[in-house]
Amino acid sequence: MAHIDITNVDLVEFAKAVYELSDHLIPDLDPLTEEEIEQVVIPAPSAFALRMDSIRGVPCKMGAYRNPDGKIHIENTWYDHTDEQFKAILDRFNIEYGELAPHRSTCNCLDCQWKRLKTKQINSST
Ligand SMILES: [Zn+2]
Repeated sequence: MAHIDITNVDLVEFAKAVYELSDHLIPDLDPLTEEEIEQVVIPAPSAFALRMDSIRGVPCKMGAYRNPDGKIHIENTWYDHTDEQFKAILDRFNIEYGELAPHRSTCNCLDCQWKRLKTKQINSST
């Protein structure tokens, strides 16, 4: 899987944006608190730079990884999120990226979940 370099991105601001852009269902979320940010932004020398699962019920599902040389990257896919959401956060931080990961049959992004749901409905109605 291709990696996207985010070494020059402010991880605190990135974590806030991940939370904000993961909000599919809950309008007007309160921003992350300093304590919550401290729990997800992990300082060097940890191999994890960012570890966000669900926060206050919002599925953030974002991890960033620190290489031994200090460079930080994310995967070129955002689990449980749409390409639109992923591109929104990449563009917000002017992060350069190539191709995003192709969607496979097991993909859990919201686009694919919707597609599978629709296919199921069409199949069950015929
Ligand atoms: Zn997908």
